[in-house]
Amino acid sequence: MQRRIVLLGPPGTGKGTQAARLCLSLKIPHLATGDLLRSAMKRDTLIGRLVRPFMDTGNLVPDDIVITMLKEAMGPLQGYLLDGFPRTVAQAESLKDAINKVILIDTPAEVIEKRLSARRICSQCPAVYNLDSNPPTKDGICDGCASALIQRIDDMPETIQTRQRRYWQDTAPLIDYYKKAKILWTIDGGLPMETVTVGIMAAVETENG
Ligand code: AMP
Repeated sequence: MQRRIVLLGPPGTGKGTQAARLCLSLKIPHLATGDLLRSAMKRDTLIGRLVRPFMDTGNLVPDDIVITMLKEAMGPLQGYLLDGFPRTVAQAESLKDAINKVILIDTPAEVIEKRLSARRICSQCPAVYNLDSNPPTKDGICDGCASALIQRIDDMPETIQTRQRRYWQDTAPLIDYYKKAKILWTIDGGLPMETVTVGIMAAVETENG
């Protein structure tokens, strides 16, 4: 069976890091709607300009834009890991019955806030750092491409709160949605990253039911 996996969890729960590890090990493509949207903004496309006000304030981009963008990125792919999608029930409905496993990374709010405020991203390449758990070798400089590290605009304290609120209002109902479909597995995201990875891998390899 082709793996069509969703990683679910509040912003800052480590979905991106875990998704990258999982995709490497399962050899499936990683589709992150946040990355697709940020790339559109960087290239200053029409969509990029349209979504900037939502992204910069930590609000959700309208469903039709995200759904169209993801479907385009999916093309004819048969297996994939989705990170940051779906974020609403309407988005989940757009995938119909395609998804066969959902991993919820459940993380305490204090841990999330600490992680998000310590996150730094490279201004040029996709590298992501954490000043506490994964700092760059040289302060403020990307190990990979030597460009400057920056903080995501939406990782600023007020925006972090909006993103958490959006998660609990719009995205958390998906927990019940996928529980009912009997494809949801929950992992404690407060544990060390390595332990979370092991837990996710075990859930991925276990049959639903
Ligand atoms: P992320 O990188 O997943 O934290 O996403 C960053 C921002 O992109 C979010 O705060 C939203 O503004 C937007 N975004 C990403 N994915 C979605 C989605 N599936 N639906 C709506 N907005 C999204």
